[in-house]
Amino acid sequence: MVPEINRKKTRRITVGDVAVGGTSPVSVQSMTNTFTQDVAATVAQIKRLEEAGCEIVRVAVPDEEAASAISSIKGRISIPVIADIHFDYRLAIAAAEAGADGLRINPGNIGSKKRVKAVVDCANAHDIMIRIGVNSGSLEKDILQKYNGVTAIAMVESAVRNIELLESLGLLQVKVSIKASDVARTVAAYSLLSEKTDVPLHVGVTEAGGLYPGIVKSSLGIGMILSQGIGDTIRVSLTRDPVEEVRVGFEILKALGIRQHGPDIISCPTCGRCNINLFDIAEEVEQALMSNPLPIKVAIMGCVVNGPGEAREADIGIAGGDGKGILFKKGEVVSTFPQEKLVDALLDEIGKMKIEE
Ligand code: SF4
Repeated sequence: MVPEINRKKTRRITVGDVAVGGTSPVSVQSMTNTFTQDVAATVAQIKRLEEAGCEIVRVAVPDEEAASAISSIKGRISIPVIADIHFDYRLAIAAAEAGADGLRINPGNIGSKKRVKAVVDCANAHDIMIRIGVNSGSLEKDILQKYNGVTAIAMVESAVRNIELLESLGLLQVKVSIKASDVARTVAAYSLLSEKTDVPLHVGVTEAGGLYPGIVKSSLGIGMILSQGIGDTIRVSLTRDPVEEVRVGFEILKALGIRQHGPDIISCPTCGRCNINLFDIAEEVEQALMSNPLPIKVAIMGCVVNGPGEAREADIGIAGGDGKGILFKKGEVVSTFPQEKLVDALLDEIGKMKIEE
């Protein structure tokens, strides 16, 4: 049993039809890496993200064409879209008018207070949220001087300043992220910030890296923050297909016992006692269950030492023998199958569970 995490209560806002903060579940976000103006490619990627369970998607809006593409994209997808804007306040307004469900801005690079106010008024008029994205790479000069560099406290001061600015301009729905590319500063910054505000927090480690370093940094950073009860939406950043970000995001939430999303597959690392090809079996099962929504625990174990015990504790599982395996379901032995029939037998039984649910 995973110990329960007491989530810090934040203000509830909405991103399209997704509730964020308050008592809402932590939601999983990602960001497309297509050219947003390429509507067909962007829609195709968002559909793959939806299939993986992504709940909110962000798209880059570097120019007018990308901003206006949002209206065509929105008509063909089901999840809310956040427009990512830098430097040009007019693009934020154009994206909101094209139907974006939220705007991600860094007020520091949007320009004068008057321009920021124009964006706030537009967001309120369209009843959409603004995420303030504080990033270790783009802190205000005076804050950098005051703290002699990019420290967690410096990042928090920038976040609080920007929240106060947007709220003084009348913004109704706000969310904040405060990301550094290293885990220690990111965790420290979120911990400090959550003591100072009840604004919903979007959690991630920025520019986390390729698959292995990215998964490790994101899992540690996001995991440590979530385990303190902090975080309302998460995004894993990987230099990879964004679908991988969504999968890793849900694995983090599942591992912490925060959310259930599809099967939880446990498998042993194998050792000298394993006499079946468990690597292939585990891989095949993982691929086959990738988009299965059933929240079940599946055990794939190499032998009878820990195998039957784990397999019995799971909803369904297999324990390997010599070129064969025992299939267990809800603590009962279903049957013994030769290795080549094991995966099909397991998937057949899982299929029946689906019908039973
Ligand atoms: S379940 Fe069996 S094969 Fe797998 S690691 Fe444990 S002892 Fe080794």
